[in-house]
Amino acid sequence: MSVFRRWYCRCSGEPRELNYERVLEDETLGEPFCDRCGATPSSDPKHTITFKDEEDFED
Ligand SMILES: [Zn+2]
Repeated sequence: MSVFRRWYCRCSGEPRELNYERVLEDETLGEPFCDRCGATPSSDPKHTITFKDEEDFED
């Protein structure tokens, strides 16, 4: 069982899922960021970032 963390930003009044910044020359994913306000989980001045962990099973 694995867990996938989804990040959201509520800057527009309702949660928007964040996109992961992709480093093109590398396979690694960067930090997720909000393409509307620019907030990231480590830079969240307005406290709009939330996350939800989704597990790989159905309930
Ligand atoms: Zn935002």
